[in-house]
Amino acid sequence: MEYRKLGSSGVQVSAFSLGSWLTFGKQITDEVAEELMITAYENGVNFFDNAEIYARGQSEIVMGRILKNLNWDRSSYLVSSKVFFGLGNAGPNQRGLSRKHVVEGCHAALNRLQVDYIDLFFCHRPDKATPIEETVWTMHNLIQQGKILYWGTSEWDASEIMEAHLIAKQNHLIGPVMEQPEYNMFRREKLEKDFLHLFKHHGLGTTIWSPLASGVLSGKYLDGFPENTRLGMEGLDWLKNRALANDRIEKARKIKKIADQLNVSMVKLSLAWCLKNPNVSTVILGASKTSQLTENFEALDVVALLTPDVMDAIDAVLDNKPVLPEF
Ligand code: NDP
Repeated sequence: MEYRKLGSSGVQVSAFSLGSWLTFGKQITDEVAEELMITAYENGVNFFDNAEIYARGQSEIVMGRILKNLNWDRSSYLVSSKVFFGLGNAGPNQRGLSRKHVVEGCHAALNRLQVDYIDLFFCHRPDKATPIEETVWTMHNLIQQGKILYWGTSEWDASEIMEAHLIAKQNHLIGPVMEQPEYNMFRREKLEKDFLHLFKHHGLGTTIWSPLASGVLSGKYLDGFPENTRLGMEGLDWLKNRALANDRIEKARKIKKIADQLNVSMVKLSLAWCLKNPNVSTVILGASKTSQLTENFEALDVVALLTPDVMDAIDAVLDNKPVLPEF
């Protein structure tokens, strides 16, 4: 495993980490969840990603039980939670980034995960109804209280992250360290363009999600529809429709040809392409089987095959390389 600094912070994350969205407490049994965590940990993964809304709290409960059962040295791993969506309840104070919900969300996540502190605590989305200043102060105070170690954002835009930094700087508070954006061959704009200033001048780290675009970039949806996969799950038509849009499938088909020419699986090529970006601190993997994880870790060896010519060939297929302003 390779370890990367989480932006300019002092903490290091494994280049691959393991997430639990749609799997823990939902698609897979608790036994499989435990096998996945063991496989990940034994391969050097040191970061496990979670959120209050995943399976409405159940994902954290399952992960918490596994962590307790495995009893790994607490200093050997990082665990996250994300606050914003609550448990899906409709009450006005049961979601968002107010001091009330962030503090209550943190306490609830600590209980579900059965840990004394959360290593990485994310604002899962921006909250237009709460002043960013209120959230920055709250996160700072949670750090002072030892309940969280680092805080960050997820799917905030560059100007929102910048505002949080400025507020933190003006008030001598601890600002956000990391952002969790979607990043894969189909979604590049934020990481490759919008955040460049934040990487360079504010040391932003990133924990990127959906590197396989929910499995489409594994190539398994190119010839028919395989059984027992995420996109066949009940209630996920919105995701299925987006993931299997014609233009994505067409591009995926062409990416597969590049993978074939390199003699590597499409999964490994797609994951290596994410790892290749130096502004990616960790690629969060999702998996429903341990065999997937084992294959995915091998993508670390494929990064070296991504020469400038190969990257150009991929860009030509994707036709979505962000255009940077000329200075
Ligand atoms: P991916 O896009 O990589 O999708 C993972 C899924 O792809 C797996 O569950 C599995 O689904 C399939 N897959 C994985 N490996 C293979 C393989 N080798 N061969 C074939 N199929 C494979 O990542 P996720 O969408 O799961 O995102 C990763 C993590 O990021 C989440 O768990 C979560 O922690 C985080 N996340 C954060 C979000 C945010 O808003 N901050 C939003 C979404 C995710 P299957 O076998 O069922 O087909």
